[in-house]
Amino acid sequence: MSTIFDKIISREIPADIVYEDEQVLAFKDISPKAPVHYLIIPKQPIATLNDANPEHQALLGHMMLTAAKLAKQAGVAEDGYRVQMNCNPDGGQVVYHIHLHMMGGKALSA
Ligand code: 5GP
Repeated sequence: MSTIFDKIISREIPADIVYEDEQVLAFKDISPKAPVHYLIIPKQPIATLNDANPEHQALLGHMMLTAAKLAKQAGVAEDGYRVQMNCNPDGGQVVYHIHLHMMGGKALSA
């Protein structure tokens, strides 16, 4: 099923893109929960973490390393940041195309 993130990947709708390579796209969250709030998404649509399989292992690792790289670029790595993936309704997932939230720039509550 197509999501708003597919439309961001295909540039049908705009986003403030901060990074792109063959595997992933990263852009600013439209409703930031922290001064720095990026979403790191795979270009291939995987609905939830439950739908990931061993073939996606390298891709998931690449998403994590991209989050760390972007935290450094944004200047929040030293003070610290949070990387989060929500899964399904109880996890707070709203967009069914997996994504990492990378949030920093202030002390985040637990
Ligand atoms: P989830 O709750 O699924 O983990 O997070 C989805 C995130 O996507 C939310 O933080 C929300 O603000 C963000 N989001 C939803 N629609 C858009 C959009 O059209 N553009 C951008 N940049 N972010 C979006």
